[in-house]
Amino acid sequence: MDSMDNILIKFYFFLPFLAIFLNGCVRQSETGKLPVVASIAPLAYFAERIGGAHVEVSVMVPPGGNPHSYEPSPRQMARLGEAALFIKAGSGVEFELDWMDRFLSISPALKVCNGVEGVRLLRVKHGGCSHHDEPYDPHYWLSVANGIVIAKNVERALAALDPSRSAEYEANSQKLQAELQLLDREIQQKLSGVKNRRFLVFHPAWGYYADSFQLEQIAVEEEGKTLTPRQMQRVIEKAKANDIGIVFVSPQFSRSQAETIAMEIGGKTRSVDPLSSDYQDNLRRATNAFLETMQ
Ligand SMILES: [Zn+2]
Repeated sequence: MDSMDNILIKFYFFLPFLAIFLNGCVRQSETGKLPVVASIAPLAYFAERIGGAHVEVSVMVPPGGNPHSYEPSPRQMARLGEAALFIKAGSGVEFELDWMDRFLSISPALKVCNGVEGVRLLRVKHGGCSHHDEPYDPHYWLSVANGIVIAKNVERALAALDPSRSAEYEANSQKLQAELQLLDREIQQKLSGVKNRRFLVFHPAWGYYADSFQLEQIAVEEEGKTLTPRQMQRVIEKAKANDIGIVFVSPQFSRSQAETIAMEIGGKTRSVDPLSSDYQDNLRRATNAFLETMQ
């Protein structure tokens, strides 16, 4: 009775169940790739480099979007319902504080990779003392050393989700970490001869970068708040006293106050992006831009 045909029919009948069983709860896209959602573009860079051809990465906060105030679109919410992994910054970015609970209620099985795990967060400095309602500076991904920590976190999350490819994820992660170590040294070297190590940024995104390269970020704005005329005056005086001629602005924020300051100090504004998806080259570009003002 058990002819070969019969066995095959049984086999094909059970195949879909077998596939579901083998996959467990891990979702896949139609192309067989792991659907990964990153909250901000720099984190997507890590997912793409480490996941390689096995992931399909999308970003929540789009280019030019401000993670301190962004709201996801209905399409993004739907996509999140199909995602296997969400990579969050985890450092108190408002967008995540406002939306993370809702994401998990839509998609309770969603695995979350916390990019900040193992990172030492810096306190927000303003006028020498720390902030009260926002004690930590959320922009940790802008130090290359923290980039290495992010690589490890993303590698661990992908390996846990897709253990059959863990060796590949590890190899990709190792390669990326080696590149980041070189990048760290390269930037260190570029900045080595600089005497005046202060730069003026409008949005205070570059504190970790400054900290890791022994520079000093003078920030105009306090995380999203518009300046009072008195605060503006204080920044202008500080810039003049430090012989600073460039105000760095982020493409995500309005330039108008920054331009007023630039005019007052007889300088100009320049754009540096704290949220680029082109992680390594963006840090190179930012270093070259900062060098212009610090020489
Ligand atoms: Zn910010």
